[in-house]
Amino acid sequence: MDRVLIVSVHDVHPASLGAVRAQVRDLDALGVENTSLLIVPEFHHGQPTLEDKETAAFLEGRREAGDDMVLHGYYHDRVGLPSGSFFWTRVYSNNEAEFYGIAAGEAERRLAAGLRLWAMRGWPVGGFIAPGWLMAAELDQVLRRLGFNFTTRLKQIVRLCDGRVTESQSLCYSTRSWWRVPVGLAWNDFLFERLIRCPVIRLSLHPGDWAVPRVRNHILGLVQRALDLGYRPLTYQRYVAL
Ligand SMILES: [Zn+2]
Repeated sequence: MDRVLIVSVHDVHPASLGAVRAQVRDLDALGVENTSLLIVPEFHHGQPTLEDKETAAFLEGRREAGDDMVLHGYYHDRVGLPSGSFFWTRVYSNNEAEFYGIAAGEAERRLAAGLRLWAMRGWPVGGFIAPGWLMAAELDQVLRRLGFNFTTRLKQIVRLCDGRVTESQSLCYSTRSWWRVPVGLAWNDFLFERLIRCPVIRLSLHPGDWAVPRVRNHILGLVQRALDLGYRPLTYQRYVAL
C-alpha cells in the first residue's frame, strides 16, 4: 500500500462552522480535497447541528464532494453523566469526554439517535469517533452491531467489519491554555519525524487551531511536508475500504 495522509476535522457544529470552512478551504488549497468531518449532533446540548440550515447545506455539499460524515459523540459533554477520572475528564478533555466510562445502554441510545439523523438525510452509516477518542474498547461491539464500519483511537484506526487495526498515532494540537501551544508544536514536530517512517499519517484538527496563527501555520506546514514526501490524502472511509 502506498503512503496515506488522513486529515480529520473535529467538532463540526453551527458555532464552529466558520473555523471548519476556513480549515477545509486551506487544506483544499494545498491539495487535500477531502477530509473526514466529525459531526456533533447537539454540541454541549446546544442548537441541533443538522437543523441549522447553513451547517446542513455545508455538510451536504461536502458529502457530495467526497467528505466523510463521521458521528462524533452526540453532545460532546458530560452533562448528566457520573463524574469520571479527574485526569481524563478534566485535565485531558475539559469535561467533554462524553463516551468515557458511559454505560453501554446509554452509549447505544445516543449512537442510535445519531444514526436516525443520518437516516433522515439519507446518509449511509459510516464511522464513529468518540470525543477525545475516549471510549471503552468493549463498545466496538455495539458500533459493529449498529452498522458502523470504523472507529479510531488516539493511536489506532479500527476496521469494525473484521477487527483489523492500523497503528498510527494522530497528530493533534491543544490551544486550551497558553502553555499547551508551544508544547504541542514541539510534540507534533517530534511525532511527525517518527510518523514519516510509517505508511499512515493522521492529523486531527480542532476549531480552535485556526484561532492561533502559529498553530495553523504549523499544521499547514506539516501537511505540505507530508504531501511533498508522497503521502496521498485519503479520508478514513476510503482508507478502511482499501
Ligand atoms: Zn471532539
